[in-house]
Amino acid sequence: MIQNKYKILIVEDEANIRNLVATVLDTAGYQTILADCCSDGETMFVSHIPDLVILDLGLPDRDGMTLLDIIRKNSLCPVIVLSARTDESDKIEALDRGANDYVTKPFGSGELLARVRAALRNNRHSAEEGRLPGGKFRLRDMEIDYDARLVFIKGAVIRLTQTEYNIVALLSENCGKMMTYAAIIKAIWGESARESTIKKLQVNMANIRRKFGDKPGEANYIANELGVGYRLNQL
Ligand code: CA
Repeated sequence: MIQNKYKILIVEDEANIRNLVATVLDTAGYQTILADCCSDGETMFVSHIPDLVILDLGLPDRDGMTLLDIIRKNSLCPVIVLSARTDESDKIEALDRGANDYVTKPFGSGELLARVRAALRNNRHSAEEGRLPGGKFRLRDMEIDYDARLVFIKGAVIRLTQTEYNIVALLSENCGKMMTYAAIIKAIWGESARESTIKKLQVNMANIRRKFGDKPGEANYIANELGVGYRLNQL
C-alpha cells in the first residue's frame, strides 16, 4: 500500500479532545499533526501544509478565529471549526470568515468523519470535466482516484510525491484550462509566486511529466506555456 494520506492539522488545547480527534482520524487512515494553541497551529500550518485543519475556537493564546484569518489570507485549505460554543452567531462568523464547516462539541466520531470527508471532497472535486462517480477522474489512459490519492496510467500506479499528487489533482480539477504559475503556487504552497517558488514548481512539473512519460513534441498530458503556466490537455 502506498502511503499517500491526507494530512490533517488539529488545533485544540484540551488534551483529551485533541487525542480523541487524532485517534478517530488516525484510525480512519488520515495523517494527523497536533497543536495546542494558535501560535503552534500557525507554525504547523506553514511547515506541514495540511490538506485540512480542525480548529478549536477557544484557545489559550488567541481566539481561534484569528488563526482562521491567517490561514485564509494565503490558502483555501478547508477548515472545520470545532467548539463548545453553541451560539449561532459564532458559527456564522466562522463561516463568514472562511471556515468550511462547523462541528459543535460534544460530537460523535461518525459525524466528525462525515464532515471531514465532505470538506476534503468539496475542496478537491470541483472539476466537471472527466469526473466520474465515486471520486474518480479519467483522461485517456490516465485515471485519478481522489479518495485514495492515486494516479494510474494504463492501470499502473504512478508513484508521485504528496506535492506532485496535489499538483496533478489541481490540474485535473481545472482540466483544459491554463493555470498560471501564480495560481498553482498559491493553491499548492499558499505562497505568492517568487523566483524560488517558480523554480520549485518547475522541478515538480518536470518530475511529473517524466513519470507520466510525456515527451517533448508529442501530444502529452501536460502542456507548458513558458512564462505563463501549465494545463492538463483534454486532447
Ligand atoms: Ca478549547
